[in-house]
Amino acid sequence: MIVANWKCNGSREMIQEWSKHYKDTYIPFDKTFVGIAPPYVYVDHLTNLINVHELDIKIGVQDIDISSGARTGAISVDMIKDMKCQFTIIGHSERRNIFDESDESISAKLDSVGSKVATILCIGESAEENKNKNTKNVLKRQLSIIEGKILSSSFSIAYEPVWAIGTGNTPAPDEINDIHKFIKDVVQSSTGNSIVPNVLYGGSVNDANAESFFKEDNVDGALIGGASLQGKSFANIVNIFNGKAI
Ligand code: PEP
Repeated sequence: MIVANWKCNGSREMIQEWSKHYKDTYIPFDKTFVGIAPPYVYVDHLTNLINVHELDIKIGVQDIDISSGARTGAISVDMIKDMKCQFTIIGHSERRNIFDESDESISAKLDSVGSKVATILCIGESAEENKNKNTKNVLKRQLSIIEGKILSSSFSIAYEPVWAIGTGNTPAPDEINDIHKFIKDVVQSSTGNSIVPNVLYGGSVNDANAESFFKEDNVDGALIGGASLQGKSFANIVNIFNGKAI
């Protein structure tokens, strides 16, 4: 599972170029879920280009609100379903830190999505929490929102250490593997239906380092910010994941 988070980036022209570059670089392989979360306003434009180029890419969104109705500025899960979006990211550290989202509001989002579309829940520790060796406690707290919940089999986690996002720094691959195993165990033991989720790694993944993460047993894919903004580098990462790099 390889997912692009474009954040607040892009334009109609950029997306046109991106699609061409992706198509020129991507080596077809139909077993991997490849997704892009563009800004909401470009969902339609990106969907059209994906259809034109016949790319096997699912479209999703970077965040979701808890309901429709009198909620100015919000987008609901029923709306994204109507636009044929197949997943939403929730709990990204930029939502937590810039927009003050709490574990409680992320929990409400998780409930509102239910099994209508797939959910990717982002969790991860700050630099200070990492330095203080508090990573697993922080992840456990962030995961407490799933306690007792019956989650869909399409529910995934993205482990994104905040200090690794956009910095070029990453944990060592074996450390990521250990954390992913921990996350799977916590989710399995705390959900009402004992699911074992796919766990993606996110934080400064690019086409030069992707392979080192993908060879770890518990790394089921990646959530990619900066390197996903170029169609060529994102396609390279997908090809590496598929074992089709040339
Ligand atoms: C992200 O913000 O989800 C992310 C992984 O960003 P980057 O790949 O740029 O570190």
